[in-house]
Amino acid sequence: MPLRKIATIGHPVLRETARELSRDELATAPVRQLIADMIETMRDANGAGIAANQVHEPVRICVVEVDRNPRYPYKPDWSLTVLVNPRVEARTNETFMNYEGCLSVPNLRGQVPRLTAVRIRAWDREGNDVDFEVKGLTAGTFQHEIDHLDGTLFVDRVADTRTLCTWADYDRFHRDAFVARAKALVARFGS
Ligand code: ZN
Repeated sequence: MPLRKIATIGHPVLRETARELSRDELATAPVRQLIADMIETMRDANGAGIAANQVHEPVRICVVEVDRNPRYPYKPDWSLTVLVNPRVEARTNETFMNYEGCLSVPNLRGQVPRLTAVRIRAWDREGNDVDFEVKGLTAGTFQHEIDHLDGTLFVDRVADTRTLCTWADYDRFHRDAFVARAKALVARFGS
């Protein structure tokens, strides 16, 4: 299974609204290969998720997985989840400030308000309906990935651009305060 090249900020594919897939298309070999390659590419780059347009395929597929992630060590584990044609719905008005990064935005992090609880409806990779609620820090991860399918990057949602920082300066100046907040969220929501 080949690794795919990851598009970086400035590439127009990241700004496209990805198109929906039919169940028939989902069952084809190229789309099944795309999903397998997305998983491998995400794992290789230590991402917590990846969207198809990040690998130059503007279709509505995204993947989330957290398994002791070295890029985001405070993120609780989440088993591999493949979403096709996902829709996200707010389950609360409450937000938290997430300190996000992105495989498509090299060496930059920034604070983004995210809902603390969302409902996700989608198909899995076999085309079966899935419908679940996700809370806390992990809810932010899902909102980030589904945003990609609408051509939105986390930098578009950064409320205060003064929070933008390199990864080294995040570690140096912002990590400890954020990790404390992240741990409190995980303790409250379990995810
Ligand atoms: Zn991203």
